[in-house]
Amino acid sequence: MLNLVLFGPPGAGKGTQSQKLIEKYGLIHLSTGDLLRGEITQGTKLGIEAKKLMDEGILVPDEVVIGMISNKLDANKGAKGFIFDGFPRTVAQADALDKLLKSKNSAISGMIALQVNDAELEHRLLLRGKASGRPDDANPEVISKRIKEYNDKTAPVAGFYKDQHKFKSINGIGSIDEIFESINNVIASY
Ligand code: AMP
Repeated sequence: MLNLVLFGPPGAGKGTQSQKLIEKYGLIHLSTGDLLRGEITQGTKLGIEAKKLMDEGILVPDEVVIGMISNKLDANKGAKGFIFDGFPRTVAQADALDKLLKSKNSAISGMIALQVNDAELEHRLLLRGKASGRPDDANPEVISKRIKEYNDKTAPVAGFYKDQHKFKSINGIGSIDEIFESINNVIASY
């Protein structure tokens, strides 16, 4: 199985590159942000609770996203592999993901980090906010909070995979195809 963690701050291009990876490798895309927005659209209790935090740019509790990922792994038993996009976002989530995959005789193949500087991220997110209508992309204060949450809670997840020799970082600035090629080169090394 090819199980990739696509890593990087909000606006790094994880969603865009995930779409291309799904096509090329036939993987299942698991984006916790998309799953949470689906819960909000459906008006579930989980969605209503999560929305309050998401609108402020704060991470939702670990057990909520771990539960959603566990359900999706169970629902896609015959999959060739998964792209984890926006998950794991804390070391506790990374640890839980390792355990979930191990219980299915599988493991993470590698984490690929897209590197983009803060100024470029804020610029991209504000542009995306205008096009997508996502409330958390439209407000500069919420964007700053999300980047702070990333630096405080999510950046340490890189160390988790470095310790397992599964971490690779690539330049996230360039054309979509150039970045995709860099990702493919990393995958070819697995
Ligand atoms: P995203 O679409 O990945 O940018 O996520 C949007 C928002 O959903 C984040 O700012 C968090 O509030 C929440 N979220 C998404 N994924 C996670 C996660 N793995 N852990 C905690 N919160 C998450």
